[in-house]
Amino acid sequence: MRPIDFHCHSTVSDGTLPPAELVARAAANGCQHLALTDHDDLDGLAVAAAAAAQQGVGFVPGVEISVSWHDVTLHIVGLGIDPDNATLRDGLAQVRSGRAERAEQMAAGLARAGIGGALAGAYRYASNPALISRAHFARYIVEQGHARDTSAVFKRYLVKGKPGYVRHVWATLGDAVSWIRAAGGIAVIAHPGRYRISVAQMHDLVREFRDVGGEAIEVITSSHSTEDYQRFDAIAREAGLLASVGSDFHGPDESWMDVGGVPALPLSATPVWQALGVQLSETAATTPV
Ligand code: AMP
Ligand code: MN
Ligand code: MN
Ligand code: MN
Repeated sequence: MRPIDFHCHSTVSDGTLPPAELVARAAANGCQHLALTDHDDLDGLAVAAAAAAQQGVGFVPGVEISVSWHDVTLHIVGLGIDPDNATLRDGLAQVRSGRAERAEQMAAGLARAGIGGALAGAYRYASNPALISRAHFARYIVEQGHARDTSAVFKRYLVKGKPGYVRHVWATLGDAVSWIRAAGGIAVIAHPGRYRISVAQMHDLVREFRDVGGEAIEVITSSHSTEDYQRFDAIAREAGLLASVGSDFHGPDESWMDVGGVPALPLSATPVWQALGVQLSETAATTPV
């Protein structure tokens, strides 16, 4: 049984399925509780909530906020947020506002590397132009035959030191957590295993995150190895953080884990849903996959 998925994306950010289709896919995969966590935007939540109610899937409104911490880009998920909260909405509008200019600079860098038409090309893939992202550029670059798949595009063109990379300053860690809390939500460090930081920096991040009111960390996510599951389960227990689970699904062709197809948490973990008031059957909460 794979009943819970607290991290996925729709066309409102860089996913490839519209919110209602995403929910239908999760339901078909047996998902019992789903959080939609689009990057920096809440516009998919109403449609997703309605679709979830229709399909008998429990729905948790969420978001994934882009954060700059020292020189590292981090993602902080908010779970159980009120989508109408003005503090959160204003904060996210501010985070989104830099994306258009960044996209122009990315396109200029890509043009210098011999990839033309990237600005218009990327926007063709962005259903929500306010959320133009590197993922949309990656899809255009694959379409143009410059790389085999999006992960090859990132390596060659879109990460630090590559022609389409543009340094960008997102929200601060403290702001992101405080907006989530203002909206009644729980802040979660997303996919911690992906950050290229030392053990000491991870320790600092967890401490700082807790100091500003963060409460949970993703233990199970598609980019984690089984060693990562153990490492972050231990870090969560040591720091007194709750453990979260999410596929980080972006679309049928781009994801390692299907929406709703998330392995169970280690039994040693304290699940984040205990703080979300999500009612689960005992089997759903504890049956390993
Ligand atoms: P942005 O917010 O515009 O910087 O885009 C970040 C998004 O790009 C992430 O949320 C992922 O969906 C995607 N992404 C980042 N790194 C990679 C990678 N190495 N391979 C594939 N997709 C990636
Ligand atoms: Mn993404
Ligand atoms: Mn992320
Ligand atoms: Mn994500």
